[in-house]
Amino acid sequence: MSYSYEAPVSQELFDRASLVTPGGVNSPVRAFRAVGGTPRFMVSGTGPYLTDADGREYVDLVCSWGPMILGHAHPAVIEAVQAAVARGTSFGTPGEGEVALAEEIVARVAPVDQVRLVSSGTEATMSAIRLARGFTGRAKIVKFAGCYHGHVDALLAAAGSGMATFGLPDTPGVTGAQAGDTIVLPYNDLEAVQEAFHLNPGEIACVITEASPGNMGVVPPRPGFNEGLKDACAKNGALYISDEVMTGFRVSRSGWYGLDGVSPDLMTFGKVMGGGFPAAAFGGRADVMAYLAPAGPVYQAGTLSGNPVATAAGLAQLRLLDDAAYNQLDSVSKEIQGLVAGALTTEGVSHRLQAAGNMFSVFFSGADVRDYEDAKRQQSFRYNSFFHSMLSQGVYLPPSAFESWFVSTAHDERAVERIAAALPAAARAAAEATEVSA
Ligand code: PLP
Repeated sequence: MSYSYEAPVSQELFDRASLVTPGGVNSPVRAFRAVGGTPRFMVSGTGPYLTDADGREYVDLVCSWGPMILGHAHPAVIEAVQAAVARGTSFGTPGEGEVALAEEIVARVAPVDQVRLVSSGTEATMSAIRLARGFTGRAKIVKFAGCYHGHVDALLAAAGSGMATFGLPDTPGVTGAQAGDTIVLPYNDLEAVQEAFHLNPGEIACVITEASPGNMGVVPPRPGFNEGLKDACAKNGALYISDEVMTGFRVSRSGWYGLDGVSPDLMTFGKVMGGGFPAAAFGGRADVMAYLAPAGPVYQAGTLSGNPVATAAGLAQLRLLDDAAYNQLDSVSKEIQGLVAGALTTEGVSHRLQAAGNMFSVFFSGADVRDYEDAKRQQSFRYNSFFHSMLSQGVYLPPSAFESWFVSTAHDERAVERIAAALPAAARAAAEATEVSA
């Protein structure tokens, strides 16, 4: 199947959008700024495929940035959503669906005794940090460069190389005061963590980390890193917060925790647990969660928290995610990783395929990527050419070299064959790319 590169209807929609919405999009990476070109406006999705406004079909390797783990418009999810919608869309009261979703999360993830539902991953991490500060009575927090936890003011600070540098705001609008209690450290560097605790005795409320980072491309923790974080926190009276918004219920039944077994004090979730709707959560130790209003003094609330339609979608999706589903996800992910690596090797393109369970990404780099500085050294201009070649052949990849690729249980042999067919030309485009042409 061949695809023309132009997307006139998407372009027209993007022009319209740009008049009424900043940059034409409601979340920056959708705008294709990193890779250039016209963002595709999608009109429908079925299984592993998306169809854009120009009527072109793509194999989707973004899966809405993770949530669509069963593929698009899965019949069981659609049925649950339709049934929920028919009963009404929001009550502003407690409902059984939110209890059932909380029970499902608590049953899957052993360190979570109690959970509070919210509407986005950003809200989850923001609230978890507030709770950690309230519980410990301390102000400072530690995060890692290259880890993204949503657009929380205090967490939009990734500046600072070297050890224990204080974060500078990453964006106008975040004040020095908001970011000033954030200590930004290089990822995978336990010595830097120990140094930070040494330099700030009794002041650090928590360390927040992506359970296995996927927001600088996929950069898994070194063996023992998460365990070292947990130990350092326990020794210093700080809470260890594992952000599983991306990995949660994606890489195993119980997320990254199911793979490394390190128990955090608090965890955050989103994406998969919402089944494509705005639902997210934070939870953890009962004694810490007891600090949350109305049980305790730390305030947190939400008009649409535990929304009945979102919880119905999330629950329907989670209930289908058994061990067989995760085995299938792992195997299709490995198959696609092998095809990508094979095509790039054939063309002599230096690369590293890095994976965390069924999440993976390709770095155009000759060395393993262990932190954000390594990630930034890759030749991302090659990714841009690779991306556009795949797009023009009907494969939708993340429009940035610094994002994870996502598969679903709907990615069947036909979808994989279409990816395989597109790869040789894309690998050639990556080989031929020059920094100027990007
Ligand atoms: N935490 C992680 C690890 C994420 O990947 C994201 C989003 O990509 C967030 C938090 C923020 O979630 P949301 O976009 O739902 O606010």
